[in-house]
Amino acid sequence: MLPLFKKAMLAALSAGLLFPAIVQAETSKPAAAVTAQVNQAVLNELPFADTRSFEDARRGFVGALPNGRVLDEEGHVAWDMEPYAFLNGDSAPDSVNPSLWRMAQLNAIHGLFEVVDGMYQVRNMDLSNMTIIEGDSGLIIIDPLLTPATARAGLELYYQHRGKKPVVAVLYTHNHADHFGGVKGVVNEEDVRAGKVRIYAPEGFMEHAIAENVIAGNAMTRRATYQFGAGLPPGVRGHVDTGLGKALGSGGLSLIAPTDTVPDNANLTIDGIEIEFQMAHGTEAESEMMMYFPQFSVLNTAEITSQQLHNIYTIRGAAIRDANSWSKFIDKVLVRFADRADILVAQHHWPIWNPEDITHFLEVQRDLYKHIHDQTVRMMNRGMLPGDIAENLQLPESLNQEWSARGYYGTVSHNARGVYQRYMGWYDANPANLNPLPPSEESRRTIDYMGGEAEVLRKARKDFADGDYRWVASVMRHLVYANPENREARELGADALEQLGYQAEAGTWRSAYLVGAHELRHGVITPKHVGLQPDLMQALETSMFFDAMGVRVDPEKAAGKHLVINWSITDKGEDYRLNLQNATLTHRSGELDEHAHASVSMSRAVLDNILLQKTSFPEAVEAGDIKVEESVDAFFGLLQMLEQPPSNFAIIEPVAMQ
Ligand SMILES: [Zn+2]
Repeated sequence: MLPLFKKAMLAALSAGLLFPAIVQAETSKPAAAVTAQVNQAVLNELPFADTRSFEDARRGFVGALPNGRVLDEEGHVAWDMEPYAFLNGDSAPDSVNPSLWRMAQLNAIHGLFEVVDGMYQVRNMDLSNMTIIEGDSGLIIIDPLLTPATARAGLELYYQHRGKKPVVAVLYTHNHADHFGGVKGVVNEEDVRAGKVRIYAPEGFMEHAIAENVIAGNAMTRRATYQFGAGLPPGVRGHVDTGLGKALGSGGLSLIAPTDTVPDNANLTIDGIEIEFQMAHGTEAESEMMMYFPQFSVLNTAEITSQQLHNIYTIRGAAIRDANSWSKFIDKVLVRFADRADILVAQHHWPIWNPEDITHFLEVQRDLYKHIHDQTVRMMNRGMLPGDIAENLQLPESLNQEWSARGYYGTVSHNARGVYQRYMGWYDANPANLNPLPPSEESRRTIDYMGGEAEVLRKARKDFADGDYRWVASVMRHLVYANPENREARELGADALEQLGYQAEAGTWRSAYLVGAHELRHGVITPKHVGLQPDLMQALETSMFFDAMGVRVDPEKAAGKHLVINWSITDKGEDYRLNLQNATLTHRSGELDEHAHASVSMSRAVLDNILLQKTSFPEAVEAGDIKVEESVDAFFGLLQMLEQPPSNFAIIEPVAMQ
């Protein structure tokens, strides 16, 4: 009866992570002649004769699953490289930027690889890499992928070639789900509880693993369909790569809380393997660590380095990362470990195999983030606007020609805007932009001043024919915002986005453009039901749960009401005082109010079951699992003020305002 805490919370807890591909009918158009030319020109701009990365990505190959195909326990496909077989073609088709094609081919090299005797990597069996180390009594696993199915399959593949040994330790390098979500595919919780398996993570891991996606989760999840190209069929006119890896494994996530927090820059010996840690908090992730293995002379940089430009700003939306600090941590590992490292591995992409190349690679990565940071700030301090900076910031040729500095996931353009935003926020200081008309009205008036819809379309068709896709996409955005029913505008806007997608070097940009084109043509891609994430929900702090409630208050329903609710989680001994006033929900921990309108108490398990949709608040009250003293109406009254945000809100056209 009440749609309480259902899909929105669930989506929130899986944000950015789970997008089973929904294969749509292929309605795409071929690359235009202009696009073919632009892509052809890339071949002369970049060092394609340098094919070392392909040797590096194949080196140490041990074995692979046929087509890389992984089925989960219910027999659903969790991972499959067969739809990407089209990447076997030698040269890029007109509809794919050759530089992205190169990365897409590299990220199609999948299976189990030996790094050195005793250290292995499972690569391209999910978005990330799983590193497996043979210790004295068993295996140490670094980052068990995104889903239990792919992690289990990766470990099985290792067993096929190296024999079966127990997993004795798991290390999570950082708090992003593609580095922990598959943990239950490689260990079971009882063994962890029994002390047979230890799980190591950097400080703040649990908090950030959960927090990153709770408050803004619904918006991030929806926007992430654009970033990752969820729903785009793989193909030369569809999905080719995410830039960071081929795609996202599909299935539910798991999480087992760490048993051990790795102290700052500790040296630990785990099952006979010495590890020197280097923390890098507040950079690529809030909580992240790199590590050096003296016995192997191997440096693992987690996700602080990758064979490309990563995101300072991520286009699904997230807090801006600190490029300056990021660069400094790369320099730190360069100083501490480069002269002792023979091989550099990371938790995405392929290794660097020679000591000289490691220093060079780390210098390139260090300077890449620092250059974007410093030059953005330099231009910002001259008064240039984000759009000017994004357009004018060019990497020096010495970086530009490095494959590991190319923007496959992040781009110089959107990262520069991110750096600007970190310091200056959304406002460019021009008072005309302080309080402009809202988007739809601004678009309607703009189109009107431009001579009306028909005139704008006439001009835009000519510009489209000339290959001016950026401008056409921009003008059609106005036209569709002015009149979403204008079919011709939607089609032309889609055509422009599509050509931009075909030209994009970044997997993220290609996906965003092509999903945008698809939604202009066909409407919103409705994601498949996202699986429940019980492990993540159970790890949600109660206080964070109330924060998530607060962002769902409907101010009209809450207007003029003042409610105080005591909320106790009996088995945890947690008390909260919730206060709804001024259409705003706040809470205090460790406090109850003797004049509260209602006092509710429940066990955490009951709250978890509500989050997992096994029951609802009314049902749990009915069943006596939630005790409500004083006014039941006050409690239900609060719950009824909460709205459920739509998981498929419009992006390429105006959203419904209320
Ligand atoms: Zn990752």
